[in-house]
Amino acid sequence: MIQTAPATLATDESPLGKEAITDFAAIVGEANVMTGVADRYAYSRDRLPYGLFQLRAGNLPGTLPSAIVSPHNTEELQAIVEYARRKQLRLIPFGAGSGVLGGTVPLVNEVVVDLKRLNRIVELNKIDGTVTVQAGMNGMQFEEELRREGFTAGHLPQSIAMSTVGGWVACRGAGQASSRYGKIEDMVIGLKAILPDGRPLDVRPVARRAVGPSIKDLLVGSEGVFGFITEVTLRVWRSPEFASPLVLAFPSLAEGFSALREVLQAELRPEVIRLYDVKESAQRTEGMPEFAGHPILCIMKFAGKRDLAMVERSLSLAICARHGAVVAGNAPYEHWDATRFHSYSTKWQSEGYYMDTIEVTGTWTRLHDMYTAMRSAAESIHPDMHFGAHWSHIYPEGACQYMTIRLPPMPQEEALRLHRQTWDRIEQLCLDMGGSVAHHHGAGLFRNPYVRAELNEGLRLLQILKDGLDPDNLINPGKLALRQPPGSGWQS
Ligand SMILES: Cc1cc2nc3c(=O)[nH]c(=O)nc-3n(C[C@H](O)[C@H](O)[C@H](O)COP(=O)(O)OP(=O)(O)OC[C@H]3O[C@@H](n4cnc5c(N)ncnc54)[C@H](O)[C@@H]3O)c2cc1C
Repeated sequence: MIQTAPATLATDESPLGKEAITDFAAIVGEANVMTGVADRYAYSRDRLPYGLFQLRAGNLPGTLPSAIVSPHNTEELQAIVEYARRKQLRLIPFGAGSGVLGGTVPLVNEVVVDLKRLNRIVELNKIDGTVTVQAGMNGMQFEEELRREGFTAGHLPQSIAMSTVGGWVACRGAGQASSRYGKIEDMVIGLKAILPDGRPLDVRPVARRAVGPSIKDLLVGSEGVFGFITEVTLRVWRSPEFASPLVLAFPSLAEGFSALREVLQAELRPEVIRLYDVKESAQRTEGMPEFAGHPILCIMKFAGKRDLAMVERSLSLAICARHGAVVAGNAPYEHWDATRFHSYSTKWQSEGYYMDTIEVTGTWTRLHDMYTAMRSAAESIHPDMHFGAHWSHIYPEGACQYMTIRLPPMPQEEALRLHRQTWDRIEQLCLDMGGSVAHHHGAGLFRNPYVRAELNEGLRLLQILKDGLDPDNLINPGKLALRQPPGSGWQS
């Protein structure tokens, strides 16, 4: 069980000291070192809902950072890392702060290193079908630039407009077109990084290699603890020439699961597949007669070469029809398409509710039982608990279950206890039922106990690696279930 970090009493004075501020300014320029209290508050949390709950109550999830430093190029970043090592200062890599698990939350007044000035495409190689991009580039600007050239990276997270390419890689993310293009680990073919000791790492981009375990994959999903990703080379694809949506109504969730499993196992690859439980379906299909008696909404999109996409569409439709699906009007697709990159609605949070999302991976053999067990566990926590789920990353072996939980307004202490209890129960059920406790949001800080339980001996390997690369625990300490820095108030 977590104990909350004590709220930091803010003072105008950064604890960093004048000498370090001057030295950082000598590296990146005075305008790119921020130590004002408003800036430090702005960087004191990411989109971790618990952080917002704390903020609403006048607290912080951790501490304020002591400063924010923004390098313009790899040389400046390297100088920052080397300086911090000499002076034993702790650093946090920061993309855009859209992480939802607290990966950038300072625990002991670390210096935040904002990478957004590393923001350009280095090379688009149209022959090889690859793009090399600096890690701090905004996701939407990156994708739009590719589209102007007739390409797509195929990584389209809901948060695309408020996240960076480096953040996608560091969190091992998944986008809405993952069934067709894969997840970020399927797209990255090379990368560059600055390791915690300041040494540069260069994993040259090639289609494949057999030179031992994958070094690249030590950085994919590393959440900043093994250093700074500075440049990434990704596969790119020609923008689809054709796209066709399909909206279906299934008679039950079980039939929907069976149909999607068969679609994926038949080697069909819709660009988008989304299946919603009864509650989330009802929110999206009000007044549509097709859903009377068929309460489960499924949205698909087929894209690519017209002939191929149409074949995939008709084969997928035939499978779904065998499971009782009927074709419905396109309104739910159109609404989803128009809002697919919006951030969460702020309505519930601003009205004092405690809303959060939890995404896990389950196997087909257990998925239905997992859903039922998690829903009843969550609903038993509080009579007014909202629980809804959808499945939008589908594999031949299983699927990601994405759940929204929401507790009504109540005294903060009670809410935080119930909120953590809900996480505990859902993640424990996931472990008991053979799933993974995180599908694409990563571990950050809040997931520490569950990551520990899932990785067990694997976590010891990660800690050995961390100790070897970063013996003084200077780079994003305490994240990814690794050792907390001395003085951290975060216990989990
Ligand atoms: C409304 C909303 C919708 C979302 N939808 C999705 C979704 O569809 N799919 C998905 O995968 N995620 C989603 N997320 C989660 C989040 O956007 C992703 O995890 C994203 O990849 C984080 O990128 P960022 O640049 O904001 O990283 P940050 O939040 O700044 O950092 C996240 C972690 O990565 C580390 N990090 C960042 N950049 C680097 C770097 N260059 N080198 C080393 N470490 C680094 C940080 O230290 C931290 O540990 C969503 C979040 C929100 C708020």
